[in-house]
Amino acid sequence: MSNSILVVGGGFSGITAALEAAEVGHEVFIVEKAPYLGGRVMQLNKYFPKLCPPSCGLEIQFQRIKNNKNVKFFTLAEVESISGSAGNYEVKVRIKPRYVKPGSADLDDVIEKLSNDIVDEFEFKLTDRKALYMDVPFAFPQRHVLEKENCTDEDLKMLEGVDAIDLDEQEKVITLSVGSVVYATGWKPYDVTKLTNLGGGTVKNCISNMQMERLAAPNGPTDGKIVRPSDGGTPKRIAFVQCAGSRDENHLNYCSYICCMASLKQAAYVREQYPDAEVTVYYIDLRTPGRYDKFAKRILSDDKVIPVKGKVAEVIEDSATKDVVVTVEDAVTGIKSQNVHDLLVLATGMQPSLSGVPVPSCVQVDDQGFIVGGEDKGIFAAGCAKLPLDVMKTAQSGTAAALKAIQTVIGR
Ligand code: SF4
Repeated sequence: MSNSILVVGGGFSGITAALEAAEVGHEVFIVEKAPYLGGRVMQLNKYFPKLCPPSCGLEIQFQRIKNNKNVKFFTLAEVESISGSAGNYEVKVRIKPRYVKPGSADLDDVIEKLSNDIVDEFEFKLTDRKALYMDVPFAFPQRHVLEKENCTDEDLKMLEGVDAIDLDEQEKVITLSVGSVVYATGWKPYDVTKLTNLGGGTVKNCISNMQMERLAAPNGPTDGKIVRPSDGGTPKRIAFVQCAGSRDENHLNYCSYICCMASLKQAAYVREQYPDAEVTVYYIDLRTPGRYDKFAKRILSDDKVIPVKGKVAEVIEDSATKDVVVTVEDAVTGIKSQNVHDLLVLATGMQPSLSGVPVPSCVQVDDQGFIVGGEDKGIFAAGCAKLPLDVMKTAQSGTAAALKAIQTVIGR
């Protein structure tokens, strides 16, 4: 029997679950597939409820992890298998090599010398990076990571002479013994390229809401300036398309919960940055639950934020100006119109990270990839692995999962 707890996923809910369990004395292992902890919140400019930057909540959490010897975490790591039963699980974890030794060496000069530019997924393809990087703000751990497969032979030769680099590091598989498991694997933004009628992936000035977060973030690819991707110009007519992929049987058959609030928050980013800009929000319903209603009312009281109740039928690009042309039928008046915008933001929904991904047989997911059941086996879902949530609720869900995981290990 093991008193230890495994947390799969090092985002906000996973970190919360891990700390709650560790701080009452349980050994906790966090397994995170990315090179850094922090998850999706790291990619936001500001998050609800207080609209603070990610550093505000995460730096404290990282400090708590550093100060707690009960928490051990593995990055670039994935669960390969889970066997056993509640109270007595054996978990195999595969850890990819980082090729960079511990410590926080200054590697800027080395990075400069690398040949290839690689699409930066952290920045949602808005910019490039090199194969050696630490592109996450206030990264935890403070260590670079090297993608050896993206280096040329010449790069590798140069890297051989760099003290901080270990090109011989090998992938390894470790075995952990735990009594219960919290799955906090989070979410991924719905793939915009599947939204062809809305210009996803084809119309240059049509971006996703997560790209908008990176554009607005001071540590993002444009240092916080919201610009048109086609020419770097200042957008004056910005529109949001709600439910882009959500509440649609052909895509995600549920409401993603947070994207109405996200668009209103982003409308505020635009209006703060460009006092003359006009923001149109095309929506079916605006869902702003609980106390968020007050926030929505405040943003919508701005006469330059124009809500249009209507379904967007098509988004195309004006080939000469690269403007975005939106065809929409107004649900109130029934009038069909074509409206031109400088920049269009698709309020894409949350898809669970486990969608389309193989999971250990003891973990059950529904047809959309959300975790269901498992509690009788000592396996608990937290945060957006279970359902779409905002950051505050995801933390509450992490705490709830930690309490259940603790009950599993102490009740045996
Ligand atoms: Fe649509 Fe709003 Fe629900 Fe998102 S939160 S799916 S935009 S209704």
